[in-house]
Amino acid sequence: MSKRDYYEVLGVSKSASKEEIKKAYRKMAIKYHPDKNPDDKSAEDKFKEAAEAYEVLSDDTKRQRYDQFGHEGVKGAGGFGGGGMSMEDIFSSFGDIFGDAFGFGGFGGFGGGGRGRQRVNKGSNIRIRVKLDLKEMVNGVEKKVKVKKYTECKTCSGSGAKNGAFNTCSTCNGSGRVTRVSNTFLGQMQTTGACPTCGGEGKVIQEKCTSCYGEGIVQDEEIISIKIPAGVTEGMQLNVSGKGNAARRGGINGDLLVAIEEKEDPDLIRDGNDLIYNLYISLSDAILGTTAEVPTVEGKVKIKIESGTQSGKILRLRNKGIPQVNGYGRGDMLVQVNVWIPEKISKEEKKLIEKLQASPNFVPQPKGKEKSIFERMRDYFG
Ligand SMILES: [Zn+2]
Ligand SMILES: [Zn+2]
Repeated sequence: MSKRDYYEVLGVSKSASKEEIKKAYRKMAIKYHPDKNPDDKSAEDKFKEAAEAYEVLSDDTKRQRYDQFGHEGVKGAGGFGGGGMSMEDIFSSFGDIFGDAFGFGGFGGFGGGGRGRQRVNKGSNIRIRVKLDLKEMVNGVEKKVKVKKYTECKTCSGSGAKNGAFNTCSTCNGSGRVTRVSNTFLGQMQTTGACPTCGGEGKVIQEKCTSCYGEGIVQDEEIISIKIPAGVTEGMQLNVSGKGNAARRGGINGDLLVAIEEKEDPDLIRDGNDLIYNLYISLSDAILGTTAEVPTVEGKVKIKIESGTQSGKILRLRNKGIPQVNGYGRGDMLVQVNVWIPEKISKEEKKLIEKLQASPNFVPQPKGKEKSIFERMRDYFG
């Protein structure tokens, strides 16, 4: 079966705004909702088709690819793009689209809905921050972090039941769902939601596990190793799938969301992708010339200081800065040379300096309109 155009599926124009797309999808999703159309295969197909269209058109990147390449461009994109979504996928991704359109909360953050479908618990996500220095951000690093979280109870293997024994729920006869009829201003409405007795699980514990009090999860700590790729920047978030909190009674684990923070470097000043380093050299080195070591994100490098170098001179080390996030190009390292003027001197030193004072080469020779340090800084940093 060839696929219909996603815009056509949702009944919106190609220039529709995000809000229009969301509205259109909500309308379709409510119209073809499986609980309003029990045992209607074509409604279910329409429901899935709309969800797939929404998955692509609500995501800027996927929408752009779709506009450019059609269905081919979004094949296999994201978790389930184009590959046909299951009802669980739809409810866990877009469940909140229904808001309060359906009576009693069965469609919240859980994979609910559908006929006789049992609820799947999902553990919550855990958010942590990781501080990295410039070297780690540029080169990538593996960090081990201790995370406080819920993990599966080992006594009952996460089932929550002592000896793993369950009874079928008598309220819903094991389906996990109950149907209610309510009177609204639109007339009588039939709504289906999670069974209040078993919480949608369809079964009840015979006797609770004593280690976890029937929850199937316990509070614990875990050392998690996080691989941080090269080129991350402050504010980025990495998603470590399945490393969040375990779900009650054997559901799906949440994710670990890692926010990247930048640790200030003791030596290097960051300006976008460029790095600035203040180098101090002695008066004699400035006059005679020397080599100096400067720290970069890849270790120390030696640079040459020409004889007669003025204080304030800026040396540019190409491609020694921070790589661009997209992988193309790299910033520079700017070394500002400062000539160290002694703040305290001995009597002997004073005599030597006084001798030089009269020497003609020690009299400043202003270089006319050569750019001042301020102008040069402006050239570099805008
Ligand atoms: Zn247990
Ligand atoms: Zn039940």
